[in-house]
Amino acid sequence: MKRTFVIGVAVLFAMVAVMGGMPDQAQARPQFVTIGTGGITGVYYPTGGAIAKMVNAKRKEYNIRATVESTGGSVFNINAVMSGDLEFGVAQSDRQYQAIKGLAEWKNSGPQKKLRAVFSIHPETITLVAAVDANIKSVMDLKGKRVNIGNPGSGQRQNSIDALSAFGIDYQNDIKAEGIKAAEAPGLLQDGRIDAFFYTVGHPNGAFKEATAGARKVSFIPIDGMGITKLVGTKPYYAKTVVPVKANYPGARNTGDITSFGVKATFVTSADQPDNIVYAITKEVFENFETFKKLHPAYQVLTKKNMLEGLSAPIHPGAMKYYKEAGLK
Ligand code: GLU
Repeated sequence: MKRTFVIGVAVLFAMVAVMGGMPDQAQARPQFVTIGTGGITGVYYPTGGAIAKMVNAKRKEYNIRATVESTGGSVFNINAVMSGDLEFGVAQSDRQYQAIKGLAEWKNSGPQKKLRAVFSIHPETITLVAAVDANIKSVMDLKGKRVNIGNPGSGQRQNSIDALSAFGIDYQNDIKAEGIKAAEAPGLLQDGRIDAFFYTVGHPNGAFKEATAGARKVSFIPIDGMGITKLVGTKPYYAKTVVPVKANYPGARNTGDITSFGVKATFVTSADQPDNIVYAITKEVFENFETFKKLHPAYQVLTKKNMLEGLSAPIHPGAMKYYKEAGLK
């Protein structure tokens, strides 16, 4: 065991010595980039995978190695990109807006001036499911119930708070709010440890498949009405939308699509990222657009044009270079 380790270390040193002696060492050293995503039952995780796949397919040309990390979500990703812990991240369009303006979670730290947009991706819906036996038919029925609003670091936490406030519900006093990661919520709902949960996510996804496939029957709850109309009217990043229940979640008690509001997933980076890396990633996603679109059903609605909408941070110059070349800007 010890001997193998010593030999292994010796081989490693020899390899490093040989590589160090190569004249084109800088050229040969791959540039590693990590993409922050979300829980593995969401859409960000496969989205990071889809983007990494596009650029890794051209590793000979670009010498970039992209990997994906499962994280707590949008707010975590933006903060990790800003601190340099991650090179790229997927983040909700509303969170991008708040970060660049120094709102919500960034109220104390101020505008995140180095945040850069690359492109936007699939639509995400603020989605609420509740156990049928908890007698929840509307958002108002959440009063007094145990509801997961999302972990700190997630995009959905503020969306849940906004949705509840639109109904006059104070999340700190009127419900028993939980701050659990979205990946754990379906299991807790099935086990009877929560009555309902919010998740802002593209459809279909594993989390709602899991939530609707268990023995405890669950329904999708509409998030609509005067308060929501007012909310969507005042916040530029919210728009009314539907949860496509019928096509995706046959295990749900309700079978019709339900109304709610939503945002967009976006791909972000830092002004510190080199132009060549951002250019390469942007180019590979856009030049292989039809292949990319097939990687997740939530991408069905994507067009090259709408992938440049919903961005509030400045577009990274590496991405802009490609958009100019392609005549998209
Ligand atoms: N929208 C969620 C968030 O920002 C993540 C959704 C997903 O992982 O697909 O935290």
